[in-house]
Amino acid sequence: MKSITKQKPFDEVKQQLDRFDRVCIVGCGTCATMTKTGGREEVLNMKEHLQELGKLVTGWTVIPTACDEMTEGALNLIQGIQNANCILVMACALGVHKVNLYIDKPVIPALDTLFIGVEDSPGYFHEVCAQCGQCVLGETAGICPLTACHKGLLNGPCGGTNNGKCEVDKEKDCAWTLIYQRLKEQGRLDLMHKYHPPKNYQVVPRPRVIKLV
Ligand code: SF4
Ligand code: SF4
Repeated sequence: MKSITKQKPFDEVKQQLDRFDRVCIVGCGTCATMTKTGGREEVLNMKEHLQELGKLVTGWTVIPTACDEMTEGALNLIQGIQNANCILVMACALGVHKVNLYIDKPVIPALDTLFIGVEDSPGYFHEVCAQCGQCVLGETAGICPLTACHKGLLNGPCGGTNNGKCEVDKEKDCAWTLIYQRLKEQGRLDLMHKYHPPKNYQVVPRPRVIKLV
């Protein structure tokens, strides 16, 4: 499982850094390196762009895994971090959160975190779970309607399904047709008639903190 990120438009990064003239850049050697959004190459590119803007880049690093417990130590090793007046983090939101825990300076994200995904083939990721807190996979033949259906329909298919393809993206299989086929193979087609009520987001613990007993 990997955090899938994309780089924010540079104008947005620029606007967030408007009030800061000395920046330290922190990348991530794991997910953001794999997605080519915050590895060494991207950090050095960002450094160059910021310098062109007239910013002083006081230091930079690529932390092995920005979201883990080693981050505190890795931050202490960055030469020039103390001279920065903000930290630009090129990692997923977990990495941003982690850096924020250990440093008493404004922390600015350079990436948008899209989803937690699995890699099917090199460079191709798909979301498998939106962590909704009420899993229905047992009744949908193991295919998640929230992440696999374009509209996230809990009761499908919609009226636009056509020859097994999705109306929103004709290249893509309709998730609810796949669910239908799989349930049919499993002799559980009766589940297609089962009504799934709207998600009760009250059951999703937010902030997402839970104590397991
Ligand atoms: S229904 Fe989908 S989003 Fe919800 S927990 Fe199950 S797999 Fe995750
Ligand atoms: S065609 Fe299928 S996958 Fe596409 S939105 Fe409708 S139910 Fe969902």
